[in-house]
Amino acid sequence: MSKIIEGKKLAEKIKENVREKVISLNNKGIDVGLALILAGENLSSKQYLSATLKACKKTGIKPYEFRFPENVTMNELLNSVRDINNDERIHGALIFFPLPKRIDSRKIVNSILPEKDVDGLGSIPIGKFAAEESTLQLYSKQYDPSITHHLGFLPCTPFGVIRLLEYYNVDIKGKHAVVIGKSLAVGKPLSLMLLTKEATVTICHRETRNLAEMTRQADILCVAAGKPNLINADMVKEGVVVVDIGINVLPNGCVVGDIDFESVSTKASLITPVPGGVGPVTIAMLLENTVKSAKARI
Ligand code: NAD
Repeated sequence: MSKIIEGKKLAEKIKENVREKVISLNNKGIDVGLALILAGENLSSKQYLSATLKACKKTGIKPYEFRFPENVTMNELLNSVRDINNDERIHGALIFFPLPKRIDSRKIVNSILPEKDVDGLGSIPIGKFAAEESTLQLYSKQYDPSITHHLGFLPCTPFGVIRLLEYYNVDIKGKHAVVIGKSLAVGKPLSLMLLTKEATVTICHRETRNLAEMTRQADILCVAAGKPNLINADMVKEGVVVVDIGINVLPNGCVVGDIDFESVSTKASLITPVPGGVGPVTIAMLLENTVKSAKARI
């Protein structure tokens, strides 16, 4: 039987640390602010927003909500981002995806100032990371928040996965990591992060032939496909470390990941649950990046 990776535990630790930093900034007369931009009525986005608001409350970060209807225009969204960029009370901005279909999401993300792009998904932070200009953030001992402005933040979900693996003393170097999903928000940056940590990385996606052949080779298996029960026990080897990033809201309202948890946990040495695994750490990383942004602006 595998050991459960308790994301909530690490998330609480990160948030305690954020809380201390927020108090110390408050004592210098600085409030830490995070803009949350949500357009439309996507259920998962609304759940993510409410969890983020709760975490903001816990850490003392001031949330600024920007809510728009499904028929919001590009101009309205760009105006809001411009206001956020110019607002000294706001140190970071998070856009909830997906944005409505007719909106050019990349244009909106790229309009956030890189130093306020605490989700690290704009072309500048992504490019800097791919060019290995910001990878030192993955080695926390070498990290100095005052240089974040020049580096760009790392995307919260994949960075959270790396932090979770490290928290559970999982050796990444030299291991075979298999990542399912190649999105800009999760799979692709996570693969790069694992590569930076010197794993041998295989990236799979919806066109991958014989997925099981790939996943059975994994020492570390990270799944971000958004497909319930994509991975079962026959598809993994004994002792594998499994990180389930998927969040799927079933018609009955239950939230599940991409892994058949019950069967895979009979073979895995370590496994994340959904909910309570990667999700809370993603939010904690977002708040950590926000407080770093505030500190860097002093
Ligand atoms: P996405 O739709 O942009 O990408 C999904 C990826 O999975 C694609 O690259 C696709 O090729 C691949 N894929 C889909 N079906 C597949 C299949 N049958 N076999 C192999 N690969 C397949 O989604 P995303 O934004 O990367 O998110 C993925 C999942 O992670 C979603 O469930 C999302 O809700 C969740 N998510 C969780 C967090 C968190 O904090 N835990 C954060 C972001 C996203």
